[in-house]
Parts: sequence; structure tokens; C-alpha cells
Amino acid sequence: MVDRQRLTDEFISLVKIDSLSKQERKMADALLRKLKDMGLEPYEDNTGSKIGGNAGNVICHIKGEKAEPALLLMAHMDTVVPGLSKNPIIDGDIIKTDGKTVLGGDDAAGVVVILETIKSLMEDKTPFGDIYIAFTVAEEGGLFGAASLDLSKIPADYAIILDEGGEIGTVAVKAPYYNRFAVKFIGRAAHAGLEPEKGLSAIMLASKAIADMPHFGRIDEESTSNIGTIQGGQVRNIVCETCSIEGEVRSISEEKIDRYTKEILDHFKETTEKLGGTVEIELEKMYPGFNIKETDDIINLLKKASTMSNIPLKFHATGGGSDTNIINGAGIPAVNTSVGMANVHSTTEYIRISDMEKACHFLTAIIKAAYLG
Ligand SMILES: [Zn+2]
Repeated sequence: MVDRQRLTDEFISLVKIDSLSKQERKMADALLRKLKDMGLEPYEDNTGSKIGGNAGNVICHIKGEKAEPALLLMAHMDTVVPGLSKNPIIDGDIIKTDGKTVLGGDDAAGVVVILETIKSLMEDKTPFGDIYIAFTVAEEGGLFGAASLDLSKIPADYAIILDEGGEIGTVAVKAPYYNRFAVKFIGRAAHAGLEPEKGLSAIMLASKAIADMPHFGRIDEESTSNIGTIQGGQVRNIVCETCSIEGEVRSISEEKIDRYTKEILDHFKETTEKLGGTVEIELEKMYPGFNIKETDDIINLLKKASTMSNIPLKFHATGGGSDTNIINGAGIPAVNTSVGMANVHSTTEYIRISDMEKACHFLTAIIKAAYLG
């Protein structure tokens, strides 16, 4: 049986642990210990040293009564800032912060829902198939932990990522591809009062290029773009020599993100060169998107779980990236399911205990449905 009190205590104990991205050491140790206490054999991979963090992903294989289909259950260990010395407050059914930090329910909620669900299945001696657990590091800011997972050691057929908000039963089945770019506009410095005609202002180059960008903001229903930062110039009386911007493009469609990104960057180059300047462009294709079809097997599994648990499904497209992008990109069908986290990445973040309980029931149903086939 899912134990509400145990779930609550576990959540409180985990969010009290400082676990900023790449500083998940204490959280990883706590989870390794908890999994061992459950009689399991977790291990930690070498991601920490690869990405400059102090902990790796915590992974655990639970051998079930049936090898196929094998499920991968995932949540991330890290939190965003401000996330040190978190002080969770229980207020009836709600757990919130004292207003000074995030709560870290993103994604401690996913972690405790996985732990409580597995504990209750084991206690109840409910038969289930092979399960892999991966608690990742450094999800926030780049999905680095998931990207460095050795999936050859995790031969899962489906992945359920527990890192979403919304009513329980909400499932992200679409998410955008993500490209980020940095552009340095280069002009010529000159004294602004004595001989400005010898200069070419990089601020002017950047401004003109951005002002007639071919795609900005909401591009179409599945694509967006943004310029997030701009920096340039040293002092008022020098014609600015360099000006740098950082931007991004997202789209659910791979074809569109490639096209929009190219059109934007080509535009920066052409506009600037026409005015006599040059550009240096860095483009990074950060992670792939995904688009699960209604007819895919993993949707069938979720539908069975929905019927068994009486929790209606609510499919949606998310605009953000999560470990789900990486796992889908690596060829394992993956969805991101809600654990009820709300107002994430803010100091008003909160979560309902009843939502985490319900998420355990939904996950239990998914595991049962996979076992029953
Ligand atoms: Zn998250």
C-alpha cells in the first residue's frame, strides 16, 4: 500500500538536502543508501567527473519476474537556485517553501514517487517485470546527466519520466528540439567625437540585424525563438567594436527548427556584411525533441494504466526540455508524467501530498499494466 505518511516524510527529508546542479553529492549518497535499505543494488556512474560535478547518476536494476517489457523510471536529483537550506512547510495537504528558496519538488517529487511506488509493490508482493531506475544529475540547465547515461546497460522498452506539473494523468508527449546560438557582431572602434566616420558600430550592426530578424517570439504553433542577452561596448566615447547576443530556437518539428535557425543566422550574416561588418556565429544543437504518436505502444500502455487506476489521461505538448528529450532521442520511447509539482523554478513552488499519492497510484498502474501486457 502507498503510505502517505512515509511518502511525506521522505519528501521532506529529500528537499532538505542541498542539491544544486553538479553539486548532488549528498543527494546521491542519500538515494544510494535508501535503495540499499530496500534490499536493492544501486550503483553510481562516472558522469560526475565527465561533467565537472561531484556526483554521478544513481542507477538501479530491479530484476522482475519477466524481462520484457522493461521499464525505465527516471527523475532528476538536482534543483535550481535559490535552492540552498530549503525549509519546507506542511500546510494541510500542501507542502510549500518559506518563500526564500524553491521547494525542490522539481524533482524530489519524482524521486519519492518512484521510491514509494517500488516499496509498496515489494511489500505487497505484487508481481512486476524488469525495472530500471535512473536518478540523474544536472538536468537543469542542460540535461547533462541523462545525456551521459550509458543506455547500453539500461535496455528498457519504455521510459516513464516523472518530472511534470499539472493534474495527475497529465503526460507530455511532445516537446521541442532546442538550438542555442551566440553571435558576435564585429565592427571597428574609433573615437566617437573626433573621427566617428572611421568606426563601425557593432551595436548598430546588432540592432539592425535583430530589428528585422525573420523569426522572433512565437513563430508558429510549434516553434519559438528568442534573443535572451545582449552585451557590447566599453565606454560612451568609443564607437563600439564588438557586440554579442545569445539566442535560441525551439520547435517540435526537426525540419522547422533547422530551417528557422538557418534563416535567422544567415540573416545576421548577410545584414552585417552588407553594412561592412562581420559576424562570428556559434550554434549548438542542444537536444532533440520528441513527438509520440497516438498509435505508439507506450500510449497503449498509458491507456491501460489509466483504465486500471481510474485516472484520466491528459496529453499535452510542453515547451520545455527534460530528460525525456534525451531518452527519446536515444531510441527508447519516453513520456514525462505529472507528479503534481506547481510554480516550479520559483520561491512560490508548492506541491500537494495527495497529488504525489495519486502519482504513486498511477505509476503502480503503469508497472502493473506493463507486467500484464
Ligand atoms: Zn524538473
